[in-house]
Amino acid sequence: LRIAVLRERAPGESRVALTPETAKKFAALGAIVAVEEGAGSGASVTDEAYREAGAEVGPAAQMVKDADIVLGVQAPDPSALAGAKPGAWVAATFDPFRNGELVEAYASARLEALSMEFMPRITRAQSMDVLSSQSNLAGYKAVLTAANVYGRAFPMMMTAAGTVQAAKVFVMGVGVAGLQAIATAKRLGAQVSATDVRSATKEQIQSLGAKPIFVENVAGIEGEGSGGYATEMSDEYKAAQAELVSSHIAKQDIVITTALIPGRPAPRLISDAQVASMKPGSVIFDLAVAQGGNVEGSRPDEVVEKHGVKIVGYSNTAGHLAADASALFARNLYNFLSAFWDEEAGRPVLDEEIGDAVRLTQGGKVVNERLTPA
Ligand code: NAD
Repeated sequence: LRIAVLRERAPGESRVALTPETAKKFAALGAIVAVEEGAGSGASVTDEAYREAGAEVGPAAQMVKDADIVLGVQAPDPSALAGAKPGAWVAATFDPFRNGELVEAYASARLEALSMEFMPRITRAQSMDVLSSQSNLAGYKAVLTAANVYGRAFPMMMTAAGTVQAAKVFVMGVGVAGLQAIATAKRLGAQVSATDVRSATKEQIQSLGAKPIFVENVAGIEGEGSGGYATEMSDEYKAAQAELVSSHIAKQDIVITTALIPGRPAPRLISDAQVASMKPGSVIFDLAVAQGGNVEGSRPDEVVEKHGVKIVGYSNTAGHLAADASALFARNLYNFLSAFWDEEAGRPVLDEEIGDAVRLTQGGKVVNERLTPA
């Protein structure tokens, strides 16, 4: 079985889907591992390190030739995979709801696209979940970036020249990224508060020593849908939330927004008027900027200044921690494929629960039910 890994082609993508550690582990399962030269450079992994781990290193076309499985961070264009075996698996992120053409192209190329974003949120798949591993790092980096852009300190400092006040940090959306953002801001000494549409997060916020900011007694408050994901809220709830947030936000120095709804544009959490209500010098980091943004006026990879407030957001926040992000991403892929390794077949054989969830294309067709509603 041949596993190939290409250098990422997407602009600004510094991560890589295989590390020397996982190359060694795949080799131990009996796979031949082939890596395009320079694939690890953005993540500080040398070709030499891959070779030492037992991988072949060479030009893309040669590495992909006769591959059974291709690993990627962002799925490559199928034209780059022309030499792979018919029906080869490609395990990567596809952003399938927004990349319909790419998914169709995979079907036409008779490749089997395995979308890591569609990993079900079940206990046994936690170690395979790239959204979690990357969000966790993104939540951390968002706070550090906001702290860098902010012209004041985070912790309270009592000095001979007088006292520096602690920064007030508000985290909106308390999933994996939000929890890490809260923990990071606390560690830096900020006064932290947070909100979410899922009431289950209240306790989690408190357990990290932050203050929950929640709308109470409004219909449509239980925003938890299937798989622990958020659903769209009632209009009444949205109005009440906007009011509560408006009064809270005006008192904050830093706001980190992380709210996503799968298959839909990111919900708008902060309007221009709310930005204007903040003190000059405040900073907003919009972690959802690549999915349309939680903040009015945010733009990917730019520092937008509005009403004296800096609005920041990276299109690929985890990519700004390329080495750790790659290490975790690569382990997620290894955990996924090795969990289904069939000794006799000498390759992974997916079960229905996870296979049907992640498989987008098979036998020349788009087969995923989230993309082809009956
Ligand atoms: P996400 O990235 O989909 O969304 C981020 C957060 O934004 C979520 O907490 C969501 O509730 C919140 N949000 C959405 N709309 C909002 C709005 N209008 N206002 C405020 N907040 C809003 O979420 P996530 O980080 O992927 O995690 C979602 C849940 O899934 C969590 O409970 C997490 O622990 C769970 N999870 C489970 C597994 C597993 O079991 N394998 C893996 C990952 C996550």
